[in-house]
Amino acid sequence: MRLTFWGAARQVTGSMHLVEANGARVLLDCGLMQGHRAEAKARNAQLPFESNHIHAVLVSHAHLDHCGNLPTLVKSGFTRDIVGTHATNDLTRIMLLDAAKIQEQDAAYWNKKRVPRGEEPIAPLYTRADADAAIRSLTGRAYEKWFDVPGARLRAQFLDAGHILGSAITVLEAQENGQTLRLGFSGDLGVKGKLILRDPAPVPPLDYLIIEGTYGDRLHALPRDSESELAQLIEETAERDGKTIIPAFALDRTQEVVYSIHRSISNGMLAPLPVFADSPLAMDATEIYRMHPEVFDHETVAFMEKYEDPFGFRQLTYTRDVEASKAINLVEGAAVIISANGMVEAGRILHHVKNNIEDPRNTILFVGYQAENTLGRRILDGIKRVRIFGEEYTVRARIERVDGFSAHADRKGLLDWVRPIASQLKGVFVVHAEERAADALVQGLRELGIENASAPAHGQQVTLN
Ligand SMILES: [Zn+2]
Repeated sequence: MRLTFWGAARQVTGSMHLVEANGARVLLDCGLMQGHRAEAKARNAQLPFESNHIHAVLVSHAHLDHCGNLPTLVKSGFTRDIVGTHATNDLTRIMLLDAAKIQEQDAAYWNKKRVPRGEEPIAPLYTRADADAAIRSLTGRAYEKWFDVPGARLRAQFLDAGHILGSAITVLEAQENGQTLRLGFSGDLGVKGKLILRDPAPVPPLDYLIIEGTYGDRLHALPRDSESELAQLIEETAERDGKTIIPAFALDRTQEVVYSIHRSISNGMLAPLPVFADSPLAMDATEIYRMHPEVFDHETVAFMEKYEDPFGFRQLTYTRDVEASKAINLVEGAAVIISANGMVEAGRILHHVKNNIEDPRNTILFVGYQAENTLGRRILDGIKRVRIFGEEYTVRARIERVDGFSAHADRKGLLDWVRPIASQLKGVFVVHAEERAADALVQGLRELGIENASAPAHGQQVTLN
């Protein structure tokens, strides 16, 4: 078996690993490399292999950095099956169509400037038609059941990764030279006790493991504490007659925050108040969450028996069209506005931040990681003036954060997960981590007795036997 790391190698974006075994070539993930740098554009557009030589793709989950470059793969000649869990496939559909729409809009925006200047128009990375073609290749599998990888003499299995709806740990099994070899891929590994989803499945027996290491050097607050912190900050803001503005990604974090507020209102921790979830993509993602209660944890199922819909309650309004979104500005008094994107880089959240950041009664409440060089990070770091849509605003609102909503296992979670099979692993590869986190996790794995632990470089190839 041979493994090549074609993405998320010593960085947290563009997940893609090529496995060659028994004469077949299988991709684990085909993610978009995110960011504005020319390097990201070039890597997304130019795949490092012949697409029509790939026999199958196994997708770990529907975040774009894991599935978002599937349309490029299909556009460049891949014609076979893309396999994910049923919930992953349903989410992948809306994520790919939304990504294609944004690619088309971006290209149109630039071409409006370029064409009059006599410059060559730029093409979107892919179009909605390309996304549609990729969507038609999706094929679903259930958790835990072994299946034959289409077009390859390999078996595979998805286990619940507890990261977002449908997310999977992937196990690939090859019979080579009379021996069985098992390679595991954690995908993005979730957090124990996270709302809505079940805990990550225990690590299965494996020979080799590719593990994510996003938080390989950090520990998180507990998910349970986050719910009461969130309720308390909303309550304090409401007592000042203020609005709580929550930047949240449309997929997973919005559903989690909505459900958390619903729980707090229904158990009396939070007085009922108007709540707006303002994002069309979040509405679509919520619909798909509602379609898959079979993957919810016991607590959520019990909650549903009492209150039916975790993602809907009397005071909650989802807004899809622009007019309804604008009308939120006219709401008087205390309210909560949840909107995307989660790092205040684009989308409707910019309008809500702009409209509310100068009023000291309000709170901008961060519930997710804020990457460097994003507006969210600058606000969180305490800058006093922000520029949004060309205008300057003074930050007078309270700026707060709640840490425990992470969808990724922390250092302890990752090491505890690997520990039961540490003595039998022949090698572990750390991916999906910045340099520091990757090196720290490699060190932690070695302390578990796994000598052959490393964080491979982009394009590095290893032979497994
Ligand atoms: Zn993810």
